[in-house]
Amino acid sequence: MSGALLGQKGFRVNILERMNFIGGRFTSFEKDGVPIPTGAVHMIPHRKGPMKQILVDKLNLPIELIDAGRPAIVNEKGEGIELGGLDAAKLFLKSLMGFSSAKRAMDSIYEFSIGLKGSRIPLLDRFAFMRRIGSYSHHVTPKGGVKSVIDALASSIRESGGRIRINHNVISVKPIDEGGFEVTTEGENYRSDIVIANCSPAVLFRLLGGEARLLGSSFERKVTECEPVPGIKIAVVCNHRVCPSSITFTPFLQVISGFSEPTIADPELAGEGRHLIMSHQEVGPGSLYDQIERAMEDFREFIPNFQDSCKVVSTHVYRDVYPVNHASQGQDFRPITRIQGLYLVGDGVKPRGYIMTEGVAKSAEIAVKAIFGGNGS
Ligand SMILES: Cc1cc2nc3c(=O)[nH]c(=O)nc-3n(C[C@H](O)[C@H](O)[C@H](O)COP(=O)(O)OP(=O)(O)OC[C@H]3O[C@@H](n4cnc5c(N)ncnc54)[C@H](O)[C@@H]3O)c2cc1C
Repeated sequence: MSGALLGQKGFRVNILERMNFIGGRFTSFEKDGVPIPTGAVHMIPHRKGPMKQILVDKLNLPIELIDAGRPAIVNEKGEGIELGGLDAAKLFLKSLMGFSSAKRAMDSIYEFSIGLKGSRIPLLDRFAFMRRIGSYSHHVTPKGGVKSVIDALASSIRESGGRIRINHNVISVKPIDEGGFEVTTEGENYRSDIVIANCSPAVLFRLLGGEARLLGSSFERKVTECEPVPGIKIAVVCNHRVCPSSITFTPFLQVISGFSEPTIADPELAGEGRHLIMSHQEVGPGSLYDQIERAMEDFREFIPNFQDSCKVVSTHVYRDVYPVNHASQGQDFRPITRIQGLYLVGDGVKPRGYIMTEGVAKSAEIAVKAIFGGNGS
């Protein structure tokens, strides 16, 4: 996003990616015709938020964001209820007042959206999150899935003369005396006036080596304290629709906090007649194997004819350098660093209240605005 925004304004952009594909945790790979995401479950949280503002309003990319409606929440009787902004606000207040079922419901919302139960998220951040749900409760699905967003961004960068280099693992970033940086990959050196890093604050800290001290002591302290948020995602394909809504929170299952069913919004996504359903759960104590087994019990409880109508297509565990979030909500770093020309973007620098790629997009907007001198022109 930062590359596309800068390319549009005439900057020469050079993207260095260590993997043999682009898109990180926001793309997909086809398996039996089904686009299995590397991370994001084919959903963008708010239909009018920073993702839409950057992708559509600013960059004018040829992508279609399909309105996936409001999320639903499944109650104790197993009924799915549409969750509007006002309903979410009521649940939030009741949870603060100590009502246990509201607390459980809110925990499933936090866990699915942020990866953590409410007790682990600072109160101010929970407030800010709820305010944003109130304003934009609909989700959107990019037509063709999240990879279509990455493909459109890559085309935009290339059209503006930028380069995207895969299999380029950055091993060091060194600020140089005359200004700018020397960026070293395994085999090549690049000089750049500006570096924008989405590899996470902790990885950037390591890449700077001895120069990391220039980021300041509070940055260093945060790096030691910051814990990436882990999670487990299981994708299944069914021959029928499963959920009441594209996003469904499930407070009364054992471990699964919710499901995404993007094929409700984009029925062609997984091929005709096939429905893609992805679960999300926190990583708890104990063996991962047991936690995945319990998730399968949840699947069988939630989808009564699971055995005959569904097939598991992938089971992914996210953690360490490949987490759900590089910094948990409220522990985020700032996009603008103390080193002139060095910026951080991504899910370790989400501004307060912005979740998932909404936070990523907002961080890109802040970094790019700062590069343009504050007025975005
Ligand atoms: C299970 C799961 C479900 C999610 N669901 C959603 C969702 O439905 N909606 C949503 O909006 N968000 C969702 N998210 C969050 C979203 O996927 C991420 O916030 C977003 O992809 C982060 O983008 P990024 O560019 O900051 O990081 P990444 O996508 O991780 O990109 C960072 C890139 O940097 C590369 N890199 C790292 N180190 C180096 C190095 N030294 N040299 C070169 N390259 C390097 C990595 O290989 C990677 O490609 C989900 C995440 C997960 C894990």
